[in-house]
Amino acid sequence: MTKTYGKNNLTIEQMLPSKAEAKAAGDSHYFTAKPCKHGHLVPRRVNDYDCLECSRLYQNEYYQANQEQEQVRSVNKYKKDPEKHIAKYQEYYQENREQILEKRKEYRENNKEKLKQQKRAYYLKLKSEKKYD
Ligand SMILES: [Zn+2]
Repeated sequence: MTKTYGKNNLTIEQMLPSKAEAKAAGDSHYFTAKPCKHGHLVPRRVNDYDCLECSRLYQNEYYQANQEQEQVRSVNKYKKDPEKHIAKYQEYYQENREQILEKRKEYRENNKEKLKQQKRAYYLKLKSEKKYD
């Protein structure tokens, strides 16, 4: 299947070669057939001139950098005051107990087959390690 882009589901062949033309035609993407300054030969978005590959890479980088920072931050927070952290979670749990339990129940209901398989896989793993019979 050919990859399509944007709300008009355009393939690269169907895209117009300039932003102005694409915009006039109401398309969300255009393709200049020239590589971007980082050498990607991919469509660009009418909205922001962005090469799709550049914007994808940028988003990934941004996401990964943030995710790591976020993890470090929460671990540091925990290390600083584990009791407070646990107390806070317990408080949250008490306040939202009904909702949390309801969500869990819902998840179990919706994933019965999956959970069964997970349980079975876990059992087989233990069995193969001879920890359980
Ligand atoms: Zn690029």
